[in-house]
Amino acid sequence: MQGKLNVQTENIFPVIKKFLYSDHEIFLRELISNAVDATQKLKTLSTRGEFKGELDDLTIDVKIDSKKKTLTVSDRGIGMTADEVEKYINQIAFSGVTDFMEKYKDSHEPLIGHFGLGFYSAFMVSDKVELFTKSWKDEPAQHWSCEGSPEFSMEEDKKINRGTDIVLHIADDCKEFLEEGTILQLLKKYCRFMPVAIRFGEETVWVDSETDCDKDGKPKRVEKKQPRIINDPDPAWKKSPSSLTDEDYKKFYHELFPMNFEEPLFQIHLNVDYPFNLTGILYFPKVRKTIDPNRNKIQLYCNQVFVTDQVEGVVPDYLMLLHGVLDSPDIPLNVSRSYLQSDGNVKKISQHISKKVADKLEEMSKKKEGEEKSALEDKWDDIKIFVQYGMLTDEKFCERAMKFYLLKGVDGSYYTLDSYREKIKALQTDKDKTVCYLYASDAEEEHAYIEKAKEKGYDVLLMDSPLESHFINLLEQKIEKSRFVRVDSDTVEKLIPHDDSIPEKLSKEEKEKLQPIIEGEIDKQKFTVQLESLEESDAPIQVTQSEFMRRYREMAQTSGGGMGFYGELPESYNLVVNINHPLIDRILNETDESKQKELVHQLTDLALLGNGLLKGEALSRFLKRSVEMI
Ligand code: ADP
Repeated sequence: MQGKLNVQTENIFPVIKKFLYSDHEIFLRELISNAVDATQKLKTLSTRGEFKGELDDLTIDVKIDSKKKTLTVSDRGIGMTADEVEKYINQIAFSGVTDFMEKYKDSHEPLIGHFGLGFYSAFMVSDKVELFTKSWKDEPAQHWSCEGSPEFSMEEDKKINRGTDIVLHIADDCKEFLEEGTILQLLKKYCRFMPVAIRFGEETVWVDSETDCDKDGKPKRVEKKQPRIINDPDPAWKKSPSSLTDEDYKKFYHELFPMNFEEPLFQIHLNVDYPFNLTGILYFPKVRKTIDPNRNKIQLYCNQVFVTDQVEGVVPDYLMLLHGVLDSPDIPLNVSRSYLQSDGNVKKISQHISKKVADKLEEMSKKKEGEEKSALEDKWDDIKIFVQYGMLTDEKFCERAMKFYLLKGVDGSYYTLDSYREKIKALQTDKDKTVCYLYASDAEEEHAYIEKAKEKGYDVLLMDSPLESHFINLLEQKIEKSRFVRVDSDTVEKLIPHDDSIPEKLSKEEKEKLQPIIEGEIDKQKFTVQLESLEESDAPIQVTQSEFMRRYREMAQTSGGGMGFYGELPESYNLVVNINHPLIDRILNETDESKQKELVHQLTDLALLGNGLLKGEALSRFLKRSVEMI
């Protein structure tokens, strides 16, 4: 029989090809999805007792014939009768193409994955497509053929095996699809977890020899060629969580990401069937100091068919740091990305995932009996930045996380936000009833300040992630009457101002005389002299850095734009002079000007040294001067 496809335009095929040029590799996914569907349908008929014959080997075969320049996809599924070919291929499938063209003719956006072009996507890479099919029903086989014009031919065929072979005569400008490497790569990309076994080419494996033994009588290991199955039809995310061990999850992680050698920390197995259908496994990788720029580590599947690994907008931004798979038939895949981002189902799914992640972390924060540390404490350093990122970008997650977020002391102990406040409340509440959280960004560099704070009985936190300055701002908003101060941002007395001020030993005139003496000897661009009344036993001169200025500079540096002004501020410090210290008194009363200068330099340098700020030439000068003075 000869026929003409019902089309408005004579040459729709070149248009299909051009339209989807960048994406034309998806033809293979479409054809194999059809083969999988046909196989699954047969299995269903068989369980229902409608199909009574043998299922036999249901493996789908993909074959390249480089001489004939064909690529063939064969299944052993339900097949089609002549009527069905007419209905599904000539009419329905084709109307799918026209619908598609109609819908997207004005679209310039890249389409995300599965847009239901189906069978006809074969023409994106072929001059001619043939279909040989024999239905499970007792009806003659059919041979359908079409050369990319609206005309097709259809005749009876002698095929005796049930199922369908789709033969693509690959076009000259698509020769890459005749290469084993290309096809293998595409199969691995799109079909890796499809639910029916897919066979392509051969692979070499090592097995025990059946005939040869080594000298100990053990069978020799020999190479053997065997058909290569390219997929795992039963991936872990489809299994029930209770049937999987930690080892199974890790194994699956490495199956998904063969190039990631590090073990994941833990995982969340998603398994929802109401109000939407979603399965998947999300792994927490180690996220230390840096946020991985290569974030396409979540793969989106639709019934085990790979759709995309570009999930921006589908999952909340902070969850993009996770690795794993999501599978949902409810995510509309035949649409563009911007549509996806505004889709209600997608939003619900995304919120659900976010909630699950928070639940998991909360559960981990509960200490099990007999255990010294909670699971969350154990992994905290590796996931802290992830939690911070989530709290900064997702209001709801933030609310939940306030319950389990952990603060870490410089001594390594962990506290929840509530328990920490209880701990420090008594000593660290200032005269305005604000609780002051002291922290260090670097326990080594700020060691001297930490020690001073500890001497006062204060506790010091370690806050060292790259997001910390943003995060501290957030905490100050979320926790009423709280203030975070870095230990080096003021003298220890002033870090947490209480009411009891220390009497000043210098008069107003003496202070006015002292100020220019000190200022004359320092870099005024960098240092601001501040005369303060401190304990006699405190250092004569100290260097501090204003919390506000420092934090805003840091925030500007990590937020890229918007806060430019702060980012450009020069680094500046306060030089705090303790007017009650005897050495300051000596400076004031020294009549020999050069000795006076020497003393100012020496005390300033000592303060800088304690802060790690004395370097290079200044350091050498200091050392030389010290020897001379001794
Ligand atoms: P879709 O798969 O989205 O329905 P297609 O254009 O890919 O659209 O296919 C149209 C129809 O043709 C299918 O719904 C199915 O009934 C039939 N079909 C396609 N490929 C096969 C196959 N390998 N075996 C049996 N039927 C098939």
